[in-house]
Amino acid sequence: MSFEAIAEAIHAVIGSTESEPAILQEPYFAGNEEEYVSSCIRDGWVSSVGAFVDRFERDLATYCQTNHAVVMVNGTTALHATMVAMGVKPGDEVLIPSLTFVATANAVKHAGATPHFVDVETQSMGIDPEALTQYLDKHTQRKGEGLYNVKTGKCIWGIMPVHVFGHPCKLDSLRDVARHYGLQLLEDATEALGSTHCNGAKIGSSGAAIFSFNGNKIITTGGGGALVTDDAQLAKRVKHITTTAKLPHRWAFEHDEIAFNYRMPNLNAALGCAQLEMLPRILQAKRALAKRYIEQFSELENLSIVTEPEGSESNYWLVTLRLENNAYDAQALLGFLHEKNILARPVWKPLHSLSIYQDAPRAPLPQTDHLAKNIINLPSSVKLGLA
Ligand SMILES: *Cc1c(COP(=O)(O)O)cnc(C)c1O
Repeated sequence: MSFEAIAEAIHAVIGSTESEPAILQEPYFAGNEEEYVSSCIRDGWVSSVGAFVDRFERDLATYCQTNHAVVMVNGTTALHATMVAMGVKPGDEVLIPSLTFVATANAVKHAGATPHFVDVETQSMGIDPEALTQYLDKHTQRKGEGLYNVKTGKCIWGIMPVHVFGHPCKLDSLRDVARHYGLQLLEDATEALGSTHCNGAKIGSSGAAIFSFNGNKIITTGGGGALVTDDAQLAKRVKHITTTAKLPHRWAFEHDEIAFNYRMPNLNAALGCAQLEMLPRILQAKRALAKRYIEQFSELENLSIVTEPEGSESNYWLVTLRLENNAYDAQALLGFLHEKNILARPVWKPLHSLSIYQDAPRAPLPQTDHLAKNIINLPSSVKLGLA
């Protein structure tokens, strides 16, 4: 299969890119976005409190079939503040995949903890529960309440799985692992709003999960993030430490700890309310686009589109092409596609190979290294799926 034929298959799905390049993912505004944002300016409620903040939190919790949502300035701060609220301590280690955006690891560092990289499985591209169990059995030890890394002597606080490109990871099994070893679990669901687990429940419907509303995500607030959880205490605690730990009072400034200002402004929440109204339509377009790519690539040798794990539903935030049997060089293919105005992108450089994380503890990462070389993301914007 030539590069030319791959470009042809992509063009058959997304149309010509001669006059306009096809970028990876652009936001889609077709509802009440302008009206809601304008109303903030009209009414003067643009900043850190306002009706849209409360409404966005309510709507988000309802959408995710859970009880509480706390919105924040972005996904990274939401991960950070929630880990802190869940009790991570400086010096702890947090098990995360290496195949993720750098913010997952950065949030761990912001909390004073250390990312500890573990391998993924190739189907969902999320943490592999079996490999994790084998690894923990061999390399950790229980002492009192805690699970300790034998090599570093540090306490392992928890697991932070990522639903990569919107595909739900094997969360049920990872929850079993967490329970078995006495670990906390916080989902980095920043890419997976609208996806569902294999039991039919929405991502975020139980436990604690973090979303991002950055401009490149499935819906956007400009910049933003949120915790959704069924744990009232956790939601209350995160709200408190992300709003300067101010005690409620009509006029007095009393703060009971040194906390963060991670509040999402009302302007951004207004955009979020309008975008959330659009989400069903956006999901429909994303899934229609993915289906067309899947069909188009089904006959092509050594190539396939990553499909949602069996039983679960992916939001298909990004459509991913697998290059199989070492038949293609991803870098060369990306170069060719960019020549054709198809602005496909590689997956992230695995975090353990970044100089900033080269000393972080890690499990063997064979699948991570394999995937990093053999998948690329294709243009996935909503408008491409509407046609
Ligand atoms: C986008 C993203 C984040 C961070 O979200 P921001 O809102 O950009 O801070 C964290 N983890 C993953 C996997 C992401 O894709």
